[in-house]
Amino acid sequence: MADSKRRKSHAAFRRAKKSIPGGVNSPVRAFRAVGGTPPFIAKGSGSRITDIDGNSRIDYVMSWGPLILGHAHPKVGEAISRAAAKGTSFGAPTEGETALVEEIRDAFPSIDLARLVSSGTEAAMSAVRLARAFTGRDRIIKFDGCYHGHADSLLVKAGSGALTFGTPSSPGVVKAAARETVSLRYNDADMVADYLTRHGGKVAAIIVEPVAGNMGVVPPARGFLQALRRLTHKHGALLIFDEVITGFRVARGGAQELYGIGADLTVLGKIIGGGLPVGAFGGRRDIMKKLSPLGPVYQAGTLSGNPVAVAAGIATLKELRRPALYRNLETKSKRLAEGLAAAAKKAGVPTTANRVGSMLTLFFADRSITNYGDAVRSDTRAYARFHAAMLTRGVYLAPSQFEAAFLSAAHTTADVTATIEAAEEAFAASR
Ligand code: PLP
Repeated sequence: MADSKRRKSHAAFRRAKKSIPGGVNSPVRAFRAVGGTPPFIAKGSGSRITDIDGNSRIDYVMSWGPLILGHAHPKVGEAISRAAAKGTSFGAPTEGETALVEEIRDAFPSIDLARLVSSGTEAAMSAVRLARAFTGRDRIIKFDGCYHGHADSLLVKAGSGALTFGTPSSPGVVKAAARETVSLRYNDADMVADYLTRHGGKVAAIIVEPVAGNMGVVPPARGFLQALRRLTHKHGALLIFDEVITGFRVARGGAQELYGIGADLTVLGKIIGGGLPVGAFGGRRDIMKKLSPLGPVYQAGTLSGNPVAVAAGIATLKELRRPALYRNLETKSKRLAEGLAAAAKKAGVPTTANRVGSMLTLFFADRSITNYGDAVRSDTRAYARFHAAMLTRGVYLAPSQFEAAFLSAAHTTADVTATIEAAEEAFAASR
């Protein structure tokens, strides 16, 4: 499986860097966290991607989650072609938009009404605006290590004291936008209860990744999500589940189905667009009715509900109606997580495998990872060595320790076995 060929990717990266900041259109693609040159991708099929040098690898990035059916799924491709042939955008209603939202509502009983947008960022930003308007309050609680897109008020990490007001994670985010965002420790319900006891009357919403995926995979501790539900009810705040990753991933009905909790508002993206740009936010009718044109909260988009993107989403979600697909994903993913952990153990490398369904992270850490503070203590240099060793052995993992690996319906048992074998070699080589 060894690939020695990187020449064309090196040249493509040099060229890209002359025209695009860092050579990429989303920072993590630049491989800064693991070093080296990112392979430039020529094509994908099923579980595999092939770069422009001709190296084929088993892909566990899967476009960062959307491709639960694998690359270039025939039914999705056909739906896209059929839709594109009829016109790519109208800026007027189409029946496909309703069909996609009906499919979403069928999977998420907490969603009475939903609106389509073009990215997860847009969906989260709009949900927060709506929550603020609905409650008449400004403050938002998020959690350290949770990512909700790059809208100003959500691009905030915790200050050194967990209860300090938001510090922007990026220059250019005005302090005023960050000031009303508080970041608390993930999985710490007591901290949330404390905060709400003191400031509950000011909090519009708690937004949470119900299974965290952006600090590496961190499952919710037993009772954490239930506590958020109880506390938001008690203090008149809304509960927003950001299911951009988990929606249709950890179960068809997302984390809400898996853990039996209904959110007031849900943010979706990734899978619902089948690999094309789609996001959505939706929830309780009384809240969603505040949205323009029914209510005063403005939100809009030239390409929202784009017919080609919607067709890809519908084709994908239809395939996900089969419960066997999720059972199969669970079996393969369990096998992979256990196999990777066993390979590490055999080589004497301390790791912790976190997994919920088909999203998993192998942390290079010798203790359990339950929050951001735990996650950042991982040995990122060891991860970078492992990543490079896997890449040369035909396995494309996320180029950062703090990301999830995603399996798709297209990954075969043979893929999983080959990945575990590659890991055994990689651990031996990267020690
Ligand atoms: N919310 C979560 C949980 C995400 O993982 C992401 C992206 O990774 C977003 C929101 C933002 O979505 P997008 O990249 O489509 O803007």
